[in-house]
Order: sequence, then C-alpha cells, then structure tokens
Amino acid sequence: MQKSVSILVADHNHPNVESIKATLTHFNDMKYKFDTAYSGKDILEKADQSKFDLVLMNFAISGTNGIKVLDEINKRKLEVPVIMIVDEGEEKSGVEAMDKGAYDYLTMEEIRTVALSRAIRRAIQRKKLEDDVRESLRKLEKMAIRDGLTGLYNHRHFKELLKNEYKKAKRHIQPLSCIMLDLDHFKNVNDTHGHQFGDQVLVKSAEILRRLVRDTDSVARYGGEEFFIVLPNTQIEGAFILAERIRAAFENNIFRKGDVSAVVTVSSGISSTSDNNVTGDHDLIENADKALYRAKWRGRNNVCTFEEAEFEKTVSLKEDGKKIKDFYAKLESVHEDIKETCIESAQNILRELNSGWDYINEHSIRVSRYAEKLTRELFMSGEEISVIKHAALLHDIGMVGINSKILKKNGRLSDEEYNLIKRHSNIGMKIIERTKLFHKELPIILHHHERFDGSGYPHRLKGDNIPYGARVLAVAEAYDVMMTDTLYKKASSPDEALSEIKECAGKQFDPHIVDVFVKVIERSE
Ligand code: GH3
Ligand code: MG
Ligand code: MG
Repeated sequence: MQKSVSILVADHNHPNVESIKATLTHFNDMKYKFDTAYSGKDILEKADQSKFDLVLMNFAISGTNGIKVLDEINKRKLEVPVIMIVDEGEEKSGVEAMDKGAYDYLTMEEIRTVALSRAIRRAIQRKKLEDDVRESLRKLEKMAIRDGLTGLYNHRHFKELLKNEYKKAKRHIQPLSCIMLDLDHFKNVNDTHGHQFGDQVLVKSAEILRRLVRDTDSVARYGGEEFFIVLPNTQIEGAFILAERIRAAFENNIFRKGDVSAVVTVSSGISSTSDNNVTGDHDLIENADKALYRAKWRGRNNVCTFEEAEFEKTVSLKEDGKKIKDFYAKLESVHEDIKETCIESAQNILRELNSGWDYINEHSIRVSRYAEKLTRELFMSGEEISVIKHAALLHDIGMVGINSKILKKNGRLSDEEYNLIKRHSNIGMKIIERTKLFHKELPIILHHHERFDGSGYPHRLKGDNIPYGARVLAVAEAYDVMMTDTLYKKASSPDEALSEIKECAGKQFDPHIVDVFVKVIERSE
C-alpha cells in the first residue's frame, strides 16, 4: 500500500487551507494526511513535535513572515522541506525564500492547479535523495574510523588517536599507558572450530574489552586478533590492574556458538610514558609489543610490563630454558630476601628518627599477620600472599611525612589535620616507588584507604576497581585499629570489632572479604 504524505498546511486563512486540500484531493495522485497551522509559532511547534513530509506555508503568515520562519526552521535543524506560497506579483519573496532553503515556491493561482501536486512530488523526491546521501555519508564516516567486524576503532584511527593522546599527555604532564593484547593460540581456534566461530570470538572479545574499560579509554582492533587499549591519565599500575582484570575475564569466559564452545585466553603487554626510553607515541607501541612478546614467552594467559620484559631480557640473555628458569627462581628468592631486609631496615631507621614509630611498626606487623591469615583463606597464590604481607608492613610508611604533633594528638583531629593525615597513602607510595623493589605492592599501599562504596581516598575508587590486595588490607587494618587502645579511645572486644566490620560490609569493605575474615577470626578465637 502506498504510504500517505503528511503535509502541514500553514496559513492564517481558512479558505486557502481548504482550497489546498481540495486541489490535492482533486488530483488524487497520492494519499495525503493534513494538519494545519495558523501562525509561525504554530508551525515551529508542530514541525518540532511530529515528522511531516512537507510544510506548505503562506509567505504572509500572520504575526511574522516566511523568511523568519525559515530562519527558525534552519536554526532548530528541523530538516523539513518547505514550499512557500506567495501572492500574485510577490514572486520576489518566493525567490528569497528559496535562497533561505525553501524547496520551491508557488503563487496563490498555482496552488489551485496541478502545479501544486507536481511541486510536492519533486520536493518529496529531493528530500529522499538528501536523506540517502546523508545516511551514506554517516556510514562512510563510521567506516573510516571503525573496524567492520568488531565496531572498535580501526588501526588507522588508532594511530591518529594515540598520537593525539600522547601530545595531550605531554602538554598536561599526565601519564599515559597502553595495553596491547593478542588472543592466545587463535590459529587453533580457527582450525578447530572454523573461521565463523573465530569471527564470533573476535566480536565477543571486543564486547568484553569495551565493558571493562572506562569511558575515557579507547579500544582499537590493532590487527587480526590483536587489540590495543589507550589509557589517558593512567599510571602503569592502573594499566596493570586493568590488563589483569581482562586476562581473568577471558580465562573465566566461555565463547559459545550453537553447540560449539571454547575458552580463549589473552596475553598483554603494557607500555607507559614512564618507561625510560619513551620519546614519542611510536615508542609506546614498540614497548607494548615487546612486553606482549614476553607475556607469550612466559607461557601465554599472562600480563607483562615493558619494564619487566626489559629486566627479564637482561637476565636471560644467552641462557637456555632450564637454566633461565632456575636462575629466575633463585633471583626471585634473592629478590624476596632483599625486600624483607629493606622493610626491616626501613622500620629500624624510622624507629630511630621518630619516637612514636614503635606503635606504627607494631600495628603494621599485626595487620600483616591478619592479612596473611585472610589471604590463605582466600586461596591466593604464594606470590600474591607475600605481596600483600609486604604491603601491610609498609602501608603506613607515609606517616613519616606527617607532622608528629598531629600523630600524637590527644583527642579528635580537626578536618584540616585529618586532610593532612590522608596524604600518607600518596607519600608512602612516593617513598616506596623510589626503591624500585615493590611495584606490585604500590597499588595496594596507595589504595588501602579506598572504600568499597567509592567514598574513600585518595582516588575514590569503587568496588572491583579497588586493587584486591588493598581491599584485603583495609579489613585487616580496620580490625587491628579497633582492637587497639589509642590516645583517645579504648580497644573494642573482638566481638564488638567483628560486628562493626560486618556492619560496614558493602559500604567500607568488600562484603566477600568480610565474610571470610569473620570466619578466620572466629575460628582462631
Ligand atoms: P599466539 O598469538 O598465541 O602466539 O598464537 P596465534 O595462533 O594466535 O598466532 P598468530 O597471531 O600468528 O595467529 C593469528 C591468527 O588469527 C591467524 C589468522 O588466521 C587469525 N585471524 C586473523 N584475523 C582474523 C579474522 O578476522 N577472523 C578469524 N576468524 N581469524 C583471524
Ligand atoms: Mg597475533
Ligand atoms: Mg594470537
């Protein structure tokens, strides 16, 4: 069935409206639906509210004139074709209206003839053509920057985007990090399940990536089964947390199509403007590529930073596989010893420097014990447990930068004093960063005062965005503070402390960690 043409007839004269309707009905070549407007304001309101195929407007519409209405239609981008009706001898106004965007004009005489239906038909055809061109342009524009399969940015646009983000980061002296990802053994996926399934894995992979990044991050399809994420204003630690989260999301995901299903893991390489050799955006790509190569070398399903890749490369030069592994394990254990010695020395120095440091030291040791018990119950790996233990021992080291009068104050702190205390997370991270030994502990130390509901400090991170170790540490630390006498409050009993921790589950603390902590403490009582 032919679609009817909806026309807004705009004239303050009732007889004209009726005669237009009569003419069009008389020629009966198309089906029409009519609405009427009697003033300029009326036209704009109606054209704004419903979509008309055409506006037939008397130039001398009451209270205004056709040109003003056309100006307003253009300003509001209403994109409705207009045919202007002018009085006999006023053709000049019609020409003026066409210059302002009217599709055509007709005289009062002509609207009673077949010229009216001809003009309407031409206007509608032209509008359709314009819409088609606009739609094609929109598609072309999208195609120019998007990858056809996944809808992510394509390689060319990614290069452009990275260049701009690099310039921005330099200009605002902000960090910029990148993650290059490559699906593991993807050839096997294609070989085993076919290319169509492979394509679907790529589409779903893009969805996973898009879901996990922030709005300000950009995800691109770098090549076949390679992706690139650009993370403005992000330090290497933040990029690492995201890459780990992506790695875990792939590991735990099952790609399905019909009765075929497969797990596909991903490896990633991280680069950042803080890497020591970066002088341009191309270095960020090259470093991420090297780190990715290393992640594959480690056995895939792995995240590696450029720094780590460089470090491992220097220790593994000219060595064969087994020797490298042995050497690496020994080096790790030496590394572990050095870290422990470093923590001990730091605490000794601080004890000499600060008379009140004993309290912080003892508190840190107790927190680390609680954290260790908790991490064992959470089935964390040996390496993760030792990272959290170290972080617990170091978490308050930044207090050294806080005025001791505030630390020893006998009574409640003022807002200003509390704000100074809050700086200890950042100060702690800066001190520890300089040793270059504790990069895995850094995010835990920096974020141990974030709260699960997003109201903590220093970055107001929320829920899963808070590093897992920091969420563990937050519970262990709070419990120890509650269980200890301070200058202005008495220690709570274990029952009181546990019930307060439970009270704060989901607000201050990760509820799952609270559940496990309660179990651990109740069992040890
Ligand atoms: P790894 O990265 O773990 O070293 O192994 P891989 O098997 O993934 O190795 P490689 O990167 O060499 O292979 C990538 C494969 O991805 C090769 C190619 O057949 C496949 N591929 C690339 N683009 C597409 C695509 O658009 N669709 C499908 N289905 N496969 C693609
Ligand atoms: Mg590849
Ligand atoms: Mg691959």
